[in-house]
Amino acid sequence: MGELRALEAVDPEVAGLIREEEVRQARTMRLIPSENYVSKAVLEATGTVLTNKYSEGYAGKRYYQGQGVIDRLEQLAIDRAKALFGAEHANVQPYSGSPANLAVYAAFCKPGDRVLGMGLPHGGHLTHGWPVSVTGQFYEAHQYTVRRQDELIDYDEVRRMARELRPAMIIAGATAYPRVIDFEIFAEIAAEVGARLMCDIAHIAGLVVGGVHPSPVPLADAVTTTTHKTLRGPRGGMILCKAAHAGAINKAVFPGLQGGPHNHTTAGLAVALAEASTESFRDYAAQVVSNSRALCEGLLSEGFRLVTGGSDNHLALVDLTPLGVPGKPAAQALERAGIVCNYNTIPYDPRKPFDPSGIRIGTPAITSRGMREGEMALLAGWIGRVVRHIGDPAVEESVRAEVEGLCAGFPAPGLD
Ligand SMILES: *Cc1c(COP(=O)(O)O)cnc(C)c1O
Repeated sequence: MGELRALEAVDPEVAGLIREEEVRQARTMRLIPSENYVSKAVLEATGTVLTNKYSEGYAGKRYYQGQGVIDRLEQLAIDRAKALFGAEHANVQPYSGSPANLAVYAAFCKPGDRVLGMGLPHGGHLTHGWPVSVTGQFYEAHQYTVRRQDELIDYDEVRRMARELRPAMIIAGATAYPRVIDFEIFAEIAAEVGARLMCDIAHIAGLVVGGVHPSPVPLADAVTTTTHKTLRGPRGGMILCKAAHAGAINKAVFPGLQGGPHNHTTAGLAVALAEASTESFRDYAAQVVSNSRALCEGLLSEGFRLVTGGSDNHLALVDLTPLGVPGKPAAQALERAGIVCNYNTIPYDPRKPFDPSGIRIGTPAITSRGMREGEMALLAGWIGRVVRHIGDPAVEESVRAEVEGLCAGFPAPGLD
Protein backbone atom coordinates (compact mmCIF):
# COMPACT_ATOMS: atom_id res chain seq x y z
CA MET A 1 0.00 0.00 0.00
CA GLY A 2 2.80 2.36 0.80
CA GLU A 3 2.30 5.76 2.32
CA LEU A 4 -1.14 6.94 3.38
CA ARG A 5 0.14 10.30 4.57
CA ALA A 6 -2.82 12.52 3.68
CA LEU A 7 -5.31 9.94 4.82
CA GLU A 8 -3.58 9.42 8.15
CA ALA A 9 -3.68 13.18 8.77
CA VAL A 10 -7.29 13.73 7.68
CA ASP A 11 -8.95 10.54 8.84
CA PRO A 12 -6.84 8.35 11.09
CA GLU A 13 -9.83 6.14 11.79
CA VAL A 14 -10.22 5.03 8.16
CA ALA A 15 -6.45 4.88 7.70
CA GLY A 16 -6.22 2.61 10.72
CA LEU A 17 -8.87 0.26 9.35
CA ILE A 18 -7.05 0.04 6.02
CA ARG A 19 -3.78 -0.75 7.81
CA GLU A 20 -5.48 -3.45 9.86
CA GLU A 21 -6.92 -5.07 6.75
CA GLU A 22 -3.52 -4.89 5.08
CA VAL A 23 -1.99 -6.80 7.99
CA ARG A 24 -4.78 -9.38 7.86
CA GLN A 25 -4.24 -9.92 4.13
CA ALA A 26 -0.48 -10.25 4.65
CA ARG A 27 -0.58 -12.72 7.54
CA THR A 28 -3.36 -15.12 6.55
CA MET A 29 -3.71 -17.85 3.93
CA ARG A 30 -6.54 -16.49 1.79
CA LEU A 31 -8.35 -19.46 0.28
CA ILE A 32 -11.52 -17.70 -0.86
CA PRO A 33 -11.45 -18.64 -4.55
CA SER A 34 -13.01 -15.36 -5.72
CA GLU A 35 -10.28 -13.28 -4.06
CA ASN A 36 -6.78 -12.38 -5.17
CA TYR A 37 -3.95 -9.88 -4.68
CA VAL A 38 -3.70 -7.20 -7.37
CA SER A 39 -0.28 -5.85 -8.26
CA LYS A 40 1.02 -2.59 -6.90
CA ALA A 41 0.64 -1.14 -10.41
CA VAL A 42 -3.09 -1.98 -10.43
CA LEU A 43 -3.50 -0.49 -6.95
CA GLU A 44 -1.78 2.71 -8.01
CA ALA A 45 -3.89 3.07 -11.16
CA THR A 46 -7.13 2.68 -9.21
CA GLY A 47 -6.21 5.27 -6.58
CA THR A 48 -6.01 8.26 -8.93
CA VAL A 49 -7.74 11.47 -10.02
CA LEU A 50 -9.61 9.47 -12.65
CA THR A 51 -12.23 8.99 -9.94
CA ASN A 52 -13.04 12.71 -10.37
CA LYS A 53 -14.27 12.47 -13.95
CA TYR A 54 -17.79 11.90 -15.29
CA SER A 55 -17.99 10.26 -18.71
CA GLU A 56 -21.46 8.87 -19.42
CA GLY A 57 -21.60 7.41 -22.92
CA TYR A 58 -18.89 5.87 -25.05
CA ALA A 59 -15.71 7.18 -26.69
CA GLY A 60 -16.61 9.91 -29.19
CA LYS A 61 -20.24 10.05 -27.92
CA ARG A 62 -20.12 11.42 -24.37
CA TYR A 63 -22.55 13.68 -22.56
CA TYR A 64 -19.88 15.76 -20.81
CA GLN A 65 -16.88 17.70 -22.14
CA GLY A 66 -13.29 17.07 -21.15
CA GLN A 67 -13.04 13.47 -22.36
CA GLY A 68 -9.72 13.64 -24.26
CA VAL A 69 -7.93 11.38 -21.81
CA ILE A 70 -10.88 9.22 -20.76
CA ASP A 71 -11.75 8.26 -24.34
CA ARG A 72 -8.17 7.11 -24.96
CA LEU A 73 -8.03 5.24 -21.66
CA GLU A 74 -11.31 3.38 -22.19
CA GLN A 75 -10.34 2.53 -25.77
CA LEU A 76 -7.03 1.15 -24.51
CA ALA A 77 -8.82 -1.13 -22.03
CA ILE A 78 -11.26 -2.25 -24.76
CA ASP A 79 -8.45 -2.99 -27.24
CA ARG A 80 -6.52 -4.96 -24.64
CA ALA A 81 -9.60 -6.94 -23.61
CA LYS A 82 -10.45 -7.80 -27.22
CA ALA A 83 -6.89 -8.89 -27.97
CA LEU A 84 -6.49 -10.92 -24.78
CA PHE A 85 -9.82 -12.79 -25.04
CA GLY A 86 -10.03 -12.86 -28.86
CA ALA A 87 -13.37 -11.05 -28.69
CA GLU A 88 -15.09 -9.06 -31.42
CA HIS A 89 -16.43 -6.48 -28.98
CA ALA A 90 -15.77 -5.55 -25.35
CA ASN A 91 -17.66 -3.33 -22.93
CA VAL A 92 -15.50 -2.47 -19.90
CA GLN A 93 -18.01 -0.26 -18.08
CA PRO A 94 -20.02 -2.71 -15.88
CA TYR A 95 -19.53 -1.82 -12.21
CA SER A 96 -19.12 -5.46 -11.26
CA GLY A 97 -20.01 -9.00 -12.27
CA SER A 98 -23.66 -8.82 -11.20
CA PRO A 99 -24.49 -5.67 -13.21
CA ALA A 100 -22.61 -7.14 -16.19
CA ASN A 101 -24.93 -10.14 -16.04
CA LEU A 102 -28.02 -8.00 -15.64
CA ALA A 103 -26.99 -5.96 -18.69
CA VAL A 104 -26.88 -9.14 -20.79
CA TYR A 105 -30.36 -10.11 -19.59
CA ALA A 106 -31.53 -6.61 -20.54
CA ALA A 107 -29.92 -6.88 -23.98
CA PHE A 108 -31.23 -10.36 -24.83
CA CYS A 109 -34.50 -10.82 -22.90
CA LYS A 110 -37.75 -9.02 -22.21
CA PRO A 111 -39.11 -9.03 -18.65
CA GLY A 112 -40.94 -12.32 -18.09
CA ASP A 113 -38.91 -14.23 -20.68
CA ARG A 114 -37.72 -17.70 -19.79
CA VAL A 115 -34.10 -18.23 -18.86
CA LEU A 116 -32.23 -21.38 -17.90
CA GLY A 117 -29.28 -21.23 -15.50
CA MET A 118 -27.47 -23.36 -12.95
CA GLY A 119 -29.10 -23.59 -9.52
CA LEU A 120 -27.30 -21.79 -6.69
CA PRO A 121 -27.09 -24.89 -4.44
CA HIS A 122 -25.38 -26.70 -7.32
CA GLY A 123 -22.73 -24.05 -7.94
CA GLY A 124 -24.54 -21.40 -9.99
CA HIS A 125 -24.48 -17.68 -9.10
CA LEU A 126 -27.39 -15.71 -7.60
CA THR A 127 -27.65 -13.78 -10.89
CA HIS A 128 -28.29 -16.98 -12.84
CA GLY A 129 -31.97 -16.74 -11.93
CA TRP A 130 -32.08 -17.62 -8.22
CA PRO A 131 -35.36 -16.41 -6.65
CA VAL A 132 -33.84 -13.83 -4.24
CA SER A 133 -32.03 -12.14 -7.16
CA VAL A 134 -33.98 -9.80 -9.45
CA THR A 135 -32.91 -12.16 -12.25
CA GLY A 136 -35.24 -14.71 -10.66
CA GLN A 137 -38.02 -12.14 -10.25
CA PHE A 138 -37.99 -10.17 -13.53
CA TYR A 139 -37.56 -13.31 -15.63
CA GLU A 140 -39.11 -16.77 -15.57
CA ALA A 141 -36.02 -18.59 -14.38
CA HIS A 142 -35.52 -22.35 -14.49
CA GLN A 143 -32.54 -24.09 -12.97
CA TYR A 144 -30.51 -27.10 -14.00
CA THR A 145 -28.45 -29.12 -11.53
CA VAL A 146 -25.49 -31.41 -11.18
CA ARG A 147 -25.97 -35.20 -11.23
CA ARG A 148 -26.33 -36.85 -7.86
CA GLN A 149 -23.93 -39.73 -8.57
CA ASP A 150 -20.88 -37.81 -9.82
CA GLU A 151 -21.76 -34.17 -8.99
CA LEU A 152 -20.97 -33.06 -12.56
CA ILE A 153 -23.21 -30.75 -14.60
CA ASP A 154 -26.03 -32.83 -16.02
CA TYR A 155 -25.77 -31.81 -19.69
CA ASP A 156 -28.54 -34.28 -20.59
CA GLU A 157 -30.84 -32.48 -18.17
CA VAL A 158 -29.79 -29.10 -19.61
CA ARG A 159 -30.70 -30.36 -23.10
CA ARG A 160 -33.98 -31.87 -21.95
CA MET A 161 -35.02 -28.69 -20.10
CA ALA A 162 -33.95 -26.46 -22.99
CA ARG A 163 -36.01 -28.49 -25.49
CA GLU A 164 -39.02 -28.41 -23.21
CA LEU A 165 -38.82 -24.79 -22.05
CA ARG A 166 -37.43 -23.07 -25.17
CA PRO A 167 -35.75 -20.36 -23.05
CA ALA A 168 -34.76 -17.00 -24.52
CA MET A 169 -31.36 -17.37 -22.90
CA ILE A 170 -29.23 -20.13 -21.42
CA ILE A 171 -26.59 -19.28 -18.83
CA ALA A 172 -23.43 -21.35 -18.47
CA GLY A 173 -20.96 -20.67 -15.71
CA ALA A 174 -20.57 -21.16 -12.00
CA THR A 175 -19.33 -19.79 -8.75
CA ALA A 176 -18.68 -23.10 -6.99
CA TYR A 177 -17.90 -25.81 -9.54
CA PRO A 178 -14.49 -27.52 -9.37
CA ARG A 179 -14.38 -28.95 -12.90
CA VAL A 180 -14.04 -27.75 -16.49
CA ILE A 181 -17.29 -26.50 -18.00
CA ASP A 182 -18.06 -27.82 -21.48
CA PHE A 183 -19.11 -24.63 -23.25
CA GLU A 184 -19.33 -26.50 -26.58
CA ILE A 185 -22.24 -28.60 -25.36
CA PHE A 186 -23.99 -25.46 -24.10
CA ALA A 187 -23.46 -23.80 -27.50
CA GLU A 188 -24.92 -26.85 -29.29
CA ILE A 189 -27.97 -26.87 -27.03
CA ALA A 190 -28.53 -23.11 -27.39
CA ALA A 191 -28.28 -23.37 -31.18
CA GLU A 192 -30.68 -26.30 -31.25
CA VAL A 193 -33.41 -24.50 -29.29
CA GLY A 194 -32.78 -21.01 -30.66
CA ALA A 195 -31.68 -19.54 -27.33
CA ARG A 196 -29.04 -16.91 -26.75
CA LEU A 197 -26.04 -18.23 -24.82
CA MET A 198 -24.46 -16.20 -22.03
CA CYS A 199 -21.29 -17.65 -20.49
CA ASP A 200 -20.30 -16.23 -17.13
CA ILE A 201 -16.57 -16.74 -16.53
CA ALA A 202 -16.35 -14.50 -13.44
CA HIS A 203 -14.30 -17.07 -11.55
CA ILE A 204 -12.25 -18.56 -14.35
CA ALA A 205 -11.40 -15.60 -16.62
CA GLY A 206 -7.73 -15.74 -15.57
CA LEU A 207 -7.63 -19.47 -16.28
CA VAL A 208 -9.19 -18.90 -19.71
CA VAL A 209 -6.67 -16.26 -20.78
CA GLY A 210 -3.90 -18.29 -19.13
CA GLY A 211 -4.77 -21.20 -21.43
CA VAL A 212 -5.79 -23.70 -18.73
CA HIS A 213 -9.57 -23.63 -19.28
CA PRO A 214 -11.35 -23.71 -22.68
CA SER A 215 -12.64 -20.31 -23.78
CA PRO A 216 -16.35 -19.71 -24.45
CA VAL A 217 -15.61 -16.49 -26.36
CA PRO A 218 -15.86 -18.02 -29.88
CA LEU A 219 -19.04 -19.90 -28.91
CA ALA A 220 -21.23 -17.59 -26.84
CA ASP A 221 -23.41 -14.65 -27.80
CA ALA A 222 -22.02 -12.86 -24.77
CA VAL A 223 -19.40 -13.65 -22.16
CA THR A 224 -19.47 -11.85 -18.82
CA THR A 225 -16.78 -11.71 -16.20
CA THR A 226 -15.69 -9.98 -13.09
CA THR A 227 -12.25 -8.41 -13.37
CA HIS A 228 -11.06 -9.06 -9.81
CA LYS A 229 -11.07 -12.84 -9.34
CA THR A 230 -8.54 -15.03 -11.20
CA LEU A 231 -8.06 -12.20 -13.74
CA ARG A 232 -6.37 -10.28 -10.90
CA GLY A 233 -7.59 -6.79 -11.74
CA PRO A 234 -9.53 -4.14 -9.79
CA ARG A 235 -13.13 -4.84 -8.70
CA GLY A 236 -15.29 -4.52 -11.78
CA GLY A 237 -17.08 -6.28 -14.60
CA MET A 238 -16.75 -6.73 -18.33
CA ILE A 239 -18.80 -8.06 -21.24
CA LEU A 240 -17.30 -9.63 -24.36
CA CYS A 241 -19.59 -10.33 -27.29
CA LYS A 242 -20.06 -10.85 -31.00
CA ALA A 243 -19.91 -7.67 -33.11
CA ALA A 244 -23.56 -8.23 -34.04
CA HIS A 245 -24.57 -7.71 -30.39
CA ALA A 246 -22.28 -4.74 -29.68
CA GLY A 247 -25.04 -2.12 -30.02
CA ALA A 248 -27.53 -3.99 -27.83
CA ILE A 249 -24.95 -4.73 -25.13
CA ASN A 250 -23.63 -1.15 -25.06
CA LYS A 251 -27.16 0.25 -24.81
CA ALA A 252 -28.06 -2.16 -22.03
CA VAL A 253 -25.05 -1.07 -19.94
CA PHE A 254 -25.57 2.64 -20.64
CA PRO A 255 -28.17 4.11 -20.58
CA GLY A 256 -30.07 0.89 -19.76
CA LEU A 257 -28.61 0.09 -16.40
CA GLN A 258 -25.78 2.40 -15.37
CA GLY A 259 -24.65 6.01 -15.37
CA GLY A 260 -21.05 7.12 -15.56
CA PRO A 261 -18.30 4.50 -15.76
CA HIS A 262 -15.72 4.25 -12.96
CA ASN A 263 -12.71 5.54 -14.84
CA HIS A 264 -10.20 4.80 -12.07
CA THR A 265 -11.32 1.17 -12.30
CA THR A 266 -10.98 1.25 -16.08
CA ALA A 267 -7.36 2.35 -15.62
CA GLY A 268 -6.68 -0.49 -13.19
CA LEU A 269 -8.35 -2.91 -15.58
CA ALA A 270 -6.20 -1.76 -18.51
CA VAL A 271 -3.10 -2.45 -16.40
CA ALA A 272 -4.38 -5.86 -15.28
CA LEU A 273 -5.19 -6.82 -18.88
CA ALA A 274 -1.62 -5.98 -19.92
CA GLU A 275 -0.30 -8.05 -17.01
CA ALA A 276 -2.57 -10.96 -17.97
CA SER A 277 -1.13 -10.91 -21.51
CA THR A 278 2.34 -11.92 -20.33
CA GLU A 279 4.07 -15.29 -20.28
CA SER A 280 4.39 -15.02 -16.52
CA PHE A 281 0.61 -14.79 -16.17
CA ARG A 282 0.27 -18.02 -18.19
CA ASP A 283 2.68 -19.63 -15.72
CA TYR A 284 0.59 -18.21 -12.87
CA ALA A 285 -2.65 -19.70 -14.25
CA ALA A 286 -1.02 -23.12 -14.71
CA GLN A 287 0.33 -22.98 -11.16
CA VAL A 288 -3.11 -22.07 -9.77
CA VAL A 289 -4.45 -25.33 -11.21
CA SER A 290 -1.42 -27.41 -10.13
CA ASN A 291 -1.74 -26.01 -6.63
CA SER A 292 -5.44 -26.78 -6.53
CA ARG A 293 -4.72 -30.40 -7.54
CA ALA A 294 -1.95 -30.69 -4.94
CA LEU A 295 -4.14 -29.23 -2.21
CA CYS A 296 -6.90 -31.69 -3.13
CA GLU A 297 -4.52 -34.66 -2.92
CA GLY A 298 -3.41 -33.51 0.50
CA LEU A 299 -6.99 -33.08 1.72
CA LEU A 300 -8.00 -36.53 0.44
CA SER A 301 -5.16 -38.07 2.41
CA GLU A 302 -6.39 -36.12 5.47
CA GLY A 303 -9.71 -37.99 5.13
CA PHE A 304 -11.89 -35.26 3.60
CA ARG A 305 -14.34 -35.96 0.79
CA LEU A 306 -14.17 -33.67 -2.22
CA VAL A 307 -17.19 -32.85 -4.35
CA THR A 308 -16.59 -34.58 -7.74
CA GLY A 309 -13.53 -36.19 -6.15
CA GLY A 310 -11.15 -33.32 -6.90
CA SER A 311 -10.52 -30.19 -8.95
CA ASP A 312 -9.31 -29.26 -12.39
CA ASN A 313 -9.60 -25.53 -11.97
CA HIS A 314 -8.76 -23.11 -9.14
CA LEU A 315 -11.22 -24.30 -6.47
CA ALA A 316 -12.46 -27.26 -4.52
CA LEU A 317 -15.57 -27.99 -2.50
CA VAL A 318 -14.68 -29.94 0.61
CA ASP A 319 -17.35 -32.12 2.21
CA LEU A 320 -16.59 -32.32 5.93
CA THR A 321 -19.20 -34.98 6.66
CA PRO A 322 -16.65 -37.83 7.00
CA LEU A 323 -14.94 -35.86 9.81
CA GLY A 324 -18.26 -35.17 11.52
CA VAL A 325 -17.87 -31.37 11.48
CA PRO A 326 -20.26 -28.95 9.72
CA GLY A 327 -18.96 -26.23 7.39
CA LYS A 328 -19.58 -23.16 9.52
CA PRO A 329 -17.70 -24.11 12.72
CA ALA A 330 -14.89 -25.45 10.52
CA ALA A 331 -14.60 -22.16 8.60
CA GLN A 332 -14.64 -20.24 11.91
CA ALA A 333 -11.95 -22.43 13.47
CA LEU A 334 -9.82 -22.18 10.34
CA GLU A 335 -10.06 -18.40 10.44
CA ARG A 336 -8.81 -18.39 14.03
CA ALA A 337 -5.90 -20.47 12.75
CA GLY A 338 -5.14 -17.92 10.00
CA ILE A 339 -6.72 -19.91 7.13
CA VAL A 340 -9.57 -17.95 5.54
CA CYS A 341 -12.22 -19.71 3.47
CA ASN A 342 -16.01 -19.73 3.26
CA TYR A 343 -18.57 -22.31 4.29
CA ASN A 344 -20.56 -23.58 1.34
CA THR A 345 -23.40 -25.90 0.46
CA ILE A 346 -22.49 -29.09 -1.33
CA PRO A 347 -24.83 -30.47 -4.02
CA TYR A 348 -27.88 -32.18 -2.44
CA ASP A 349 -26.71 -30.91 0.93
CA PRO A 350 -28.82 -32.39 3.75
CA ARG A 351 -27.91 -29.37 5.94
CA LYS A 352 -29.20 -25.77 5.79
CA PRO A 353 -27.45 -23.09 3.67
CA PHE A 354 -26.39 -21.01 6.72
CA ASP A 355 -24.69 -24.07 8.24
CA PRO A 356 -23.96 -26.40 5.33
CA SER A 357 -21.78 -29.51 5.04
CA GLY A 358 -18.86 -28.00 3.18
CA ILE A 359 -16.25 -25.34 2.78
CA ARG A 360 -15.08 -23.80 -0.49
CA ILE A 361 -11.37 -23.24 -0.98
CA GLY A 362 -9.24 -21.96 -3.84
CA THR A 363 -5.68 -21.23 -4.81
CA PRO A 364 -5.69 -17.93 -6.80
CA ALA A 365 -4.52 -15.67 -3.96
CA ILE A 366 -1.92 -17.97 -2.40
CA THR A 367 -0.51 -18.71 -5.87
CA SER A 368 -0.10 -14.96 -6.42
CA ARG A 369 2.18 -15.06 -3.34
CA GLY A 370 4.38 -17.62 -5.11
CA MET A 371 3.32 -20.68 -3.12
CA ARG A 372 3.64 -24.05 -4.86
CA GLU A 373 2.92 -27.76 -4.36
CA GLY A 374 5.13 -28.09 -1.26
CA GLU A 375 3.21 -25.34 0.53
CA MET A 376 -0.11 -26.97 -0.49
CA ALA A 377 0.93 -30.17 1.30
CA LEU A 378 1.62 -28.17 4.48
CA LEU A 379 -1.67 -26.34 4.15
CA ALA A 380 -3.68 -29.57 3.72
CA GLY A 381 -2.08 -30.91 6.90
CA TRP A 382 -2.98 -27.76 8.83
CA ILE A 383 -6.59 -27.84 7.62
CA GLY A 384 -6.81 -31.47 8.70
CA ARG A 385 -5.38 -30.70 12.14
CA VAL A 386 -7.71 -27.78 12.81
CA VAL A 387 -10.83 -29.65 11.69
CA ARG A 388 -9.93 -32.86 13.54
CA HIS A 389 -9.35 -30.83 16.74
CA ILE A 390 -12.27 -28.51 16.19
CA GLY A 391 -12.39 -25.75 18.81
CA ASP A 392 -9.05 -26.65 20.42
CA PRO A 393 -7.32 -23.29 21.09
CA ALA A 394 -3.85 -24.83 21.41
CA VAL A 395 -4.09 -26.44 17.96
CA GLU A 396 -5.48 -23.25 16.42
CA GLU A 397 -2.70 -21.22 18.03
CA SER A 398 0.09 -23.51 16.82
CA VAL A 399 -1.31 -23.68 13.26
CA ARG A 400 -1.67 -19.91 13.26
CA ALA A 401 2.01 -19.54 14.13
CA GLU A 402 2.96 -21.87 11.28
CA VAL A 403 0.67 -20.01 8.86
CA GLU A 404 2.20 -16.65 9.80
CA GLY A 405 5.69 -18.07 9.44
CA LEU A 406 4.94 -19.36 5.95
CA CYS A 407 3.19 -16.14 4.88
CA ALA A 408 6.23 -14.11 5.97
CA GLY A 409 8.30 -16.03 3.42
CA PHE A 410 5.86 -15.33 0.56
CA PRO A 411 5.17 -11.57 0.46
CA ALA A 412 1.86 -10.76 -1.20
CA PRO A 413 1.82 -8.52 -4.31
CA GLY A 414 0.71 -4.98 -3.57
CA LEU A 415 1.44 -5.16 0.17
CA ASP A 416 4.49 -3.84 2.00
C1 LIG B 1 -18.58 -13.38 -8.42
C2 LIG B 1 -19.54 -13.78 -9.47
C3 LIG B 1 -20.45 -12.87 -10.02
C4 LIG B 1 -20.72 -11.51 -9.41
O1 LIG B 1 -19.71 -10.66 -9.31
P1 LIG B 1 -19.81 -9.39 -8.34
O2 LIG B 1 -18.64 -8.61 -8.80
O3 LIG B 1 -19.70 -9.92 -6.95
O4 LIG B 1 -21.09 -8.71 -8.60
C5 LIG B 1 -21.22 -13.27 -11.08
N1 LIG B 1 -21.14 -14.51 -11.58
C6 LIG B 1 -20.31 -15.43 -11.05
C7 LIG B 1 -20.29 -16.79 -11.64
C8 LIG B 1 -19.51 -15.10 -9.97
O5 LIG B 1 -18.73 -16.04 -9.44
